[in-house]
Amino acid sequence: MRFVDEFREPELITRTAEEIRRLADTKRHYRFMEVCGGHTHSIYRFGLKDLLPSNIELVHGPGCPVCVLPMGRIDDGLSIAEQPGVIFTAFGDMMRVPGTRGTPLEYKARGMDVRIVYSPSDALKLARNNPDRHVLFFAIGFETTAPSTALTMMRAKAEGLKNFSVFCNHVTIIPAIRAILDSPDMRIDAFIGPGHVSTVIGCRPYGWIASNEEKPIVVAGFEPLDILQSIVMLLRQLNQNQKKVENQYKRAVPWEGNRAALKAMAEVFELRPYFEWRGLGFISQSALRIRAAYAEFDAEHRFSVPGVRVTDPKAAQCGEVLKGVLKPAQCKLFGKECTPEHPIGALMVSSEGSCAAYYNYEHRKTQALTHLSRMPVSTPDVTAGVTAV
Ligand code: SF4
Repeated sequence: MRFVDEFREPELITRTAEEIRRLADTKRHYRFMEVCGGHTHSIYRFGLKDLLPSNIELVHGPGCPVCVLPMGRIDDGLSIAEQPGVIFTAFGDMMRVPGTRGTPLEYKARGMDVRIVYSPSDALKLARNNPDRHVLFFAIGFETTAPSTALTMMRAKAEGLKNFSVFCNHVTIIPAIRAILDSPDMRIDAFIGPGHVSTVIGCRPYGWIASNEEKPIVVAGFEPLDILQSIVMLLRQLNQNQKKVENQYKRAVPWEGNRAALKAMAEVFELRPYFEWRGLGFISQSALRIRAAYAEFDAEHRFSVPGVRVTDPKAAQCGEVLKGVLKPAQCKLFGKECTPEHPIGALMVSSEGSCAAYYNYEHRKTQALTHLSRMPVSTPDVTAGVTAV
C-alpha cells in the first residue's frame, strides 16, 4: 500500500530499533509521553513497546477526545435526545460511551432517535431531509475535527436552516499538555507530539514546551517507523542537551498549520473560560464554545441542558490512566468488571482509548501466551500415519 508499506518495512524498523538501543543511555530511565490516542493504538497494535529497551517507558497521554469527556457532558447531550422531535447524531465511537443512565445506544434501545453519522455534514443532510424534526450533532474532538463542525455550521447559516444545532464539546490540546506538565505527580522527559491535531494547528504552538518547560517534542505520524523515528529524534535531542520542537510528520503537518481550517474555527468558535476534563478537572481556556453570531445553532442556547457534574464510579481509575500516572492494567477494574464488551470507562470504548488498545493487543497477547504455557506438553506420536508393512 503506497505511503503505508514504506513505514512498515521490517528491515528499516529493525535498524531504527537498533539505533534507539544505541542512543539510549543505559544508566538513565526515559519517560516519553505520546499525547495522542492514535499513537497509543499504534504502539500496542504493532507491538512497538517490545522493540524498545526497558529503560524507555512510553506514557499514554490525554489525546483521546472521547476519553477526556466527563460523564456529565454525555448526560447533558443525551438529555436533549430525550426531547420530543429530536434526532440525536454522533460519531460511532460515542455510541457506547456510558452516561449515568446509559450509552447513546441504550437510549436508542429505549426508543430515542439516536443515529451514527460519519461527519457533521451527514447530520446537516438529515436536517435538510427532515424539516419537521430537530437534528442535534454531538460534536466532539480536538482541533482535528473542530474545523469540519465549524464549516458545517457556516453552511447551515448560509442555507438558513432552522432545525439543526450542535452540542459543542470540542477541546484544545495545548492546555491539556500544560495541565499534565503542572501535575506534581508527573515526570515526563519528552513528548511524542500529536499528529492529527498538528495538521490543523501546526508545530508553532508547542514552542513553549521546548523553551519554557525545557522538554523536547517531536510531532509524529502513526506508522511504526514514524513512532520509532520520533523516539530516535527525541533521544538525539536529549543526548545533545537540546530542547526543541521537531516535525517528523512533515508529509502531513505543515509547520504553520492549516490556515483555512484555523480561519473557519475562529469564525464560529471562541474559547470557553474553563471546561471540565475527565481526570484532569477544570482547565481554563481548554475548550471551544459557539460564538453569539451562531447562537441559533448552539444546542446549549436552544435547549435547557441540566449542566450536571458526575463523578466516575469510585473504583474506576480513568483519571489516573489519562494523566499517565497509572498504566491501564493497573486499574482495579481492568479486564474484570471493565472490558471492551462491558466498558465502565470511555478509555475502554474508544479505539483511541489506552485501555481498549492495551486490552485488545497487549492483554490478549499475554493471555494467549499464558494459555499456551499451561497446555500439557505431549510427546508426538511417531507412529501416527505409519502403515505397517
Ligand atoms: S479499565 Fe475501565 S475503569 Fe479502569 S481506567 Fe480503564 S476504562 Fe477506566
